[in-house]
Amino acid sequence: MIKETIATIPLMDAFGAGDECPFCFLEREAEQHAISFILGSAYMEDDIREKTDDAGFCRHHFKMMYDYGNRLGSALILSTHLKKLNLELGGELKNFSPKKSGLLKRMKRTDVKNAEAKTPLGAWIRRKEASCYVCDHFRDIYNRYLDTFFDLYRKNSDFREIFGKSRGFCLPHFGDLIETAEDKLSEDQKKEFYPKVFALMQDNIDRVQKDVSWFVEKNDYRNRDKDWGSAADSIQRAMQKCAGGYPADETFRVKP
Ligand SMILES: [Zn+2]
Ligand SMILES: [Zn+2]
Repeated sequence: MIKETIATIPLMDAFGAGDECPFCFLEREAEQHAISFILGSAYMEDDIREKTDDAGFCRHHFKMMYDYGNRLGSALILSTHLKKLNLELGGELKNFSPKKSGLLKRMKRTDVKNAEAKTPLGAWIRRKEASCYVCDHFRDIYNRYLDTFFDLYRKNSDFREIFGKSRGFCLPHFGDLIETAEDKLSEDQKKEFYPKVFALMQDNIDRVQKDVSWFVEKNDYRNRDKDWGSAADSIQRAMQKCAGGYPADETFRVKP
């Protein structure tokens, strides 16, 4: 039996859901919780608003807020956030001093997203882009889930079995898992964990790949009467495997 604690229950639920990635499952739960919390009534509380004024939101979570439905709540959040943003921007602009540009630099092809920020203003804006109340909320609990994952993996044979039978992870969350494993597991544990998780990833990407291939072949009239198998919802699962998230989810809206 797995001893259930506050941190293990959601993780076990996520593994029990049988999705393409248990960490996507946790991420969805956390972001929906945060959106309904903030636009529920929390935006009326001063201490919460101080946080949203400061952190702001990323493009993805602004879109979620817009779709969720409480427009007046969003307007209130935005009005004080923009006030703070413009004040900070004012400080940045006052201190802005253009640098010299030589002919060589002017000839170079622009590659603005991959280059380091050249100005403090550019760096400040990048920090703003990366800052989001909802992402910050998830980052905190995500790190705890990663710790709990390795806790359970090290100590609990039942969990190792559930993990072994799981469908693996999406590529981005798999990346985080490996990066965390490097610190959390001993050499011996790594010798066992890596081959297992690598096989899990390759086998499950292969499974999803075969599903989408069958989706393509089903379009052939000769396969018209054949069974869909597990291909019918393979598009969204394949997209999730590659990049995370749930492309087929219905829009998350406030309950009427
Ligand atoms: Zn994922
Ligand atoms: Zn965000």
